Order: sequence, then C-alpha cells, then structure tokens
Amino acid sequence: MKRFFGTAALLFAAAATLCGCGMKQPLRTQGAATAMGTVVRLTLYTSDGDEDDIGEIVDLIQEMEEDTLSRRLESSEIYRINQAAGSGEGTLISDELADALERCMELKERCGGAFDPAIGALVKLWDIDGWASGLREGDFFVPDSEKISEALAQGGSEKIRLERKEDGTALFTADGVILDLGAVGKGMALDRVLDSLKDMPDISGACVSVGGSVLTYGEKPDGTKWKIGIADPDDPSVNIGFLSVHGQWCISTSGDYERYVMLDGRRYHHILDPATGYPADSGVRSVTVLTKDGFLSDGLSTACFVLGRQKGMELAQSYGAEVLFVDSDGKITMSQGMKEYFQEAD
Ligand code: AMP
Ligand code: MG
Repeated sequence: MKRFFGTAALLFAAAATLCGCGMKQPLRTQGAATAMGTVVRLTLYTSDGDEDDIGEIVDLIQEMEEDTLSRRLESSEIYRINQAAGSGEGTLISDELADALERCMELKERCGGAFDPAIGALVKLWDIDGWASGLREGDFFVPDSEKISEALAQGGSEKIRLERKEDGTALFTADGVILDLGAVGKGMALDRVLDSLKDMPDISGACVSVGGSVLTYGEKPDGTKWKIGIADPDDPSVNIGFLSVHGQWCISTSGDYERYVMLDGRRYHHILDPATGYPADSGVRSVTVLTKDGFLSDGLSTACFVLGRQKGMELAQSYGAEVLFVDSDGKITMSQGMKEYFQEAD
C-alpha cells in the first residue's frame, strides 16, 4: 500500500489525446496532495498514463519532509540537529542536507544576512506554524521586543559548523540555535523531483508545484509552453500575469499574502527580517524568481523579499537568475531577462 494514502488527499485524473494524424500522444495524468504543510499539484505527460508515477513523486516530497526537513517530526535530520544544539556532539547528516546547508551559508553571506537558515528561534517566537495551522486572529499577539532580541541573538549561520569526514558530514550548532529551512525546502524538494524525473523515461513532460515553487520539465505534447501564473497580492485567486517557458525551469514566489495575520490594520506575515526581527517591510508584496535550480529559486525569492527591489535585483542577477517584484503600490518591476517570459494578464 502506498504511504501517501494515509497522510494526503490525492486526486487522480488521466486524459488521453490523439494528435491530428491519429498517432497516440502522451497521456496527461494529474494529481494533488498535501505535503510540507502546503498543496502539491502535479501534471505529468507519460507514455502509459501510469498513475503510480504521481504517487512516486508525492512520496519523494513527503519523504523529504519526514526524513530531512521538518522541525517538528522526530524522524527528521533537522529535528535531531536542533535537539543536539549546544551539546558539542556533532550530528551525522546526509550529503544532500550537507550540500544544502553549505549553499544556505553562502546565500546568507551573499545577501548580507537577509536570508538566515538559523532563523528558527524567531520563526517559533512569531508562531508562524501556528498561523499556518489556522490559529484565529484573536490568538495572535506581537512578541515582546526583548524576546525578539533574544531570538535574534540565537540566529546567524556563523553558529553552524560543518565537518566533512570520510564516513560522512558532522554538523555542530551552538546552544539555542534552531535551524529552519522553510525558505528553501520546497525548492529542495523540486530538485529531488527533477533528479527522479530524469530516471523516468516514460515521462516526457511535467509540471510540479509545491506551494509557491514550481518545476517545469520536458515538453507538452502539443509543443505549447508551460504557463505559470503570478498571483495578485491583493487577491491571490487572480493572476496579475504569467511566465511562459519551454523545458526545465524552477519558479518560486515569496509573498506577504501566503501566510499572514491582520492586527490593528497591520499585516504580520511569515517572511522575517533578521535585521529587525519583525516581518520584512521592504516595500514589496511579492517576489518571483526564475532559474534552473529549485534551491536557488526558493532561497532567492525569500532573500529578495527581505532585501527589497534594488538590492534584491542585484542579488538575483549575481546568481544569473531572473526576478520580478510586485511593489506595495501594485507596480511590477522585473529584470531585463524576465521580460522575455512575462505577459501581463488581460
Ligand atoms: P518562503 O515562503 O519560501 O519565502 O519561505 C518562508 C519561510 O522561511 C517562513 O515560513 C520561515 O519558515 C522561513 N523564513 C522566514 N524568514 C526567513 C529569512 N529571513 N531567512 C530564512 N528563512 C526565513
Ligand atoms: Mg523561499
């Protein structure tokens, strides 16, 4: 029995199409599930319409949460690392996580600390997971400034040390450090999905989204482009525009409309500024990043949100990524290269 049936609502739909010449086209299979605290949507074009392919990919994403990234599940590497913080005993971690943490530390350096993988104490203080699980507005309160300063003091990737050894990598974190890879986890899951798709020759095209991060792969049978909507921050059920791409890309959006609470007319959202300890207030409502790599699209969209338009643009371009900002006044600004892919909605 497949493991995802117990934990996720999974919907299937398969559709066959014939091309004009009567030759059999790849079959479209679609599915949706919940994983990593968000919705996963999948569209696959396969030679045999095998629905197990959908389940296999959902499994990969759920395993990433359970075995590697979750802060709350005892089964995960991040949970074990956070438990061992300050003990002086290194935690042996997988190569995949070691590579991701190295990339996190590099991103943190390059963005001047706007992105911080050790931001967990602050995320916990603001109880972001609580809002995600549907806490009512009445239960939300702004933490004391003293507590915010204390939580900030526990962050910073200089408190993380990786020791590569012959038998694996040991990770040491200082007392009080809580790792939180929520800003890159969905992109990491897409990188894992991409690796697997390359080993599934029956799949000729795929579009997989994990929350605000989307992977496109291969082609659609009719040769049209993959079309990815960019939500209007004022009404996320409507798109302000689309990115149209051929082949393999990763597209991530970070927005203040994804997880937030309104209190006294102010929006408290889930992307925190490590410079202040409060939700980032850089004048943007959302940032969309287009690049080939899931880790990077996800990490950069969060970092660019905190940095704002000008510094964010510089950071994304230094990585060779394209970026689009929606400002507080609804204005859209994008890198030169993004213009090739973006169309405004009618
Ligand atoms: P995303 O939706 O990809 O922008 O990621 C937001 C999530 O990343 C939050 O729910 C937190 O778990 C975490 N997070 C919030 N602020 C930061 C930050 N400045 N640096 C790193 N991670 C963050
Ligand atoms: Mg992100």
